Amino acid sequence: MVDFSFTEEQKLFRKSLREWCEKELPLEKIREIDSKGEIPKEIIKSMADLGLLLMTVPQEHGGAGVDWVTACIAAEELGYADISIAIPVFFLVESSWGFVLDRYCSEQVREEVIRKAVKGEAFVGIASTEAGGGSDVAAVKTTGRKEGNEWVLNGEKTYISGTEEAKKLGGGYFLLARTSPPPSGAPHKGMTAFYLPINAAGVEVGKRFEEMGRMAISTGSITMDNVKIPDTYRVGEEGRGFYLTMEGFDNARLLIGATCLGAAQRALELGMEYVKEREAFGRPIAKFEGIQFDLADMWAELEALRSLVYRTAWMNNEKYMHKRFTPLEVTKYISACKLKVPPFAFKVFEHVMLWMGAWGYTKDCPLEMGLRGIMSYYIGAEGAMNIQRVIIARELLGKHTWKTIHSLQITLFL
Ligand SMILES: Cc1cc2nc3c(=O)[nH]c(=O)nc-3n(C[C@H](O)[C@H](O)[C@H](O)COP(=O)(O)OP(=O)(O)OC[C@H]3O[C@@H](n4cnc5c(N)ncnc54)[C@H](O)[C@@H]3O)c2cc1C
Repeated sequence: MVDFSFTEEQKLFRKSLREWCEKELPLEKIREIDSKGEIPKEIIKSMADLGLLLMTVPQEHGGAGVDWVTACIAAEELGYADISIAIPVFFLVESSWGFVLDRYCSEQVREEVIRKAVKGEAFVGIASTEAGGGSDVAAVKTTGRKEGNEWVLNGEKTYISGTEEAKKLGGGYFLLARTSPPPSGAPHKGMTAFYLPINAAGVEVGKRFEEMGRMAISTGSITMDNVKIPDTYRVGEEGRGFYLTMEGFDNARLLIGATCLGAAQRALELGMEYVKEREAFGRPIAKFEGIQFDLADMWAELEALRSLVYRTAWMNNEKYMHKRFTPLEVTKYISACKLKVPPFAFKVFEHVMLWMGAWGYTKDCPLEMGLRGIMSYYIGAEGAMNIQRVIIARELLGKHTWKTIHSLQITLFL
């Protein structure tokens, strides 16, 4: 039997979140937030009160303990409300990386950051990318050296989301570092994950990058100069960092799919309202086939992708809760979500802007915020498009076809 319905609880959650978004995040407010370049702290507090922050973290650790379908509903609704996608980014980075951090961290880290972050009193992000490249994760140059019961970290991470938010709220990052030389032919081995508090001695946060979109969440760099952290800040076993990082990417990419669905849905609805009102050649432009066919094509694609995202969310639940799927079985579906939904959402914004003519090119129209924001996921935040293609092709064709590139951002459970 196949049942595509949401539970009553999930339907109620979507309804109440939609109501909160309508009240707290109307598009005029999103425009203001985008212009000011900061998520207001009352919004973060309110999200915490609604149980949205790190909502996938189990209840016994302070989170809402929701399943991945519910987390996707939250991402979709936040994407629908904040088409600039800054607030969804804040939400999804924490719900995916906070989940992995919580899953493998010590009780000390849980107390120091997870329990605070769920209340909006700390930020949790991911620090994997370096100036030398993001896709080739195993090429990370940041090092972790063990000295007694401590680790000494050195290196630099860049294009890191939420650096200003972490400075303001406190908290820190799930950090990937090399802790031993890799065995020949296995560059992804010998890497360890850590919790890096943003205020640790020796940590310096670089200047915020000037980006084209999602203006209300910062991106910056982090330098570590002989940063000493206790062994209790190690996340998971020594040498398992690469695998844990891939688990985080998988969860983030799923939520990105849901976020972009929500933004695309909103763009389409704004477009439909517009074409029914706007007249050309003596009739509403909705009466022209050129517009109708474009709308029908995009709606059909949106529904197909929505089915993909929620089916994948269900698989992710089954993976975690019942071990019904292996991580590798789910990963290709997750990569399909990351590969297909952001470019599709970008296309919807682009097409609807064309329907709107000159108005679409102004800041009076909200759509340009979406185009700029979605581009971050299209261009490669949480994994470039080609890397998703490599993952999917590897799973379809078998491991032997990609032997030379096994250090990419690819889930490997060897
Ligand atoms: C807005 C934003 C926020 C970000 N936030 C974070 C964050 O919080 N934490 C973090 O760690 N990182 C973050 N990143 C970095 C992100 O993870 C990287 O940009 C991404 O992994 C790609 O790495 P890169 O930019 O170095 O591109 P590269 O790895 O240099 O890739 C460049 C191009 O080459 C292609 N390519 C690379 N390898 C192959 C291959 N084998 N086959 C075919 N094509 C290939 C890619 O598809 C891409 O088009 C963020 C990026 C952005 C844009």
